[in-house]
Amino acid sequence: MNKGTVLVVEDDKAIQNLIGTTLEIFDYNYLISSNAKDGILKATSYNPDVIILDLGLPDMDGLEVIKKIRSFSLVPIIIVSARTDNADKITALDAGADDYLTKPFDMDELIARIVSLIRRYTRFNQQDGISQQLEFDGLKIDIENRSVTTENGTFEL
Ligand code: CA
Repeated sequence: MNKGTVLVVEDDKAIQNLIGTTLEIFDYNYLISSNAKDGILKATSYNPDVIILDLGLPDMDGLEVIKKIRSFSLVPIIIVSARTDNADKITALDAGADDYLTKPFDMDELIARIVSLIRRYTRFNQQDGISQQLEFDGLKIDIENRSVTTENGTFEL
């Protein structure tokens, strides 16, 4: 069974291959982008479950990529970077990243973090689904179907 789609935004071919092969072994679908522009495009069109993002990309700083993606999506973002300074980590997390791994990193650790973030994100989305229906005082509001139910019947909005 497929466990989700991971978008890998990374310009280093060796790391692309390493991550791609590992994701395949663990039954994840994956997409690869070698630059920021393509990464943002794929993030909008394929709606991935997790994004693995390198900060040092040829066309744009990874921090800008985080901000752009955050302007339209809450998808979990894991940073993989050679930058080891705490300041870099804090800046990336502040910009909206969910996790940060310093290169070189352990593949088992990357997979463990992907599993954990997908689980949390899926649960968050399901909760979001439940909150689409509000019920109080004999009144039921269904946001998804855009209807309101009262003692006098159901009304479409
Ligand atoms: Ca790079």
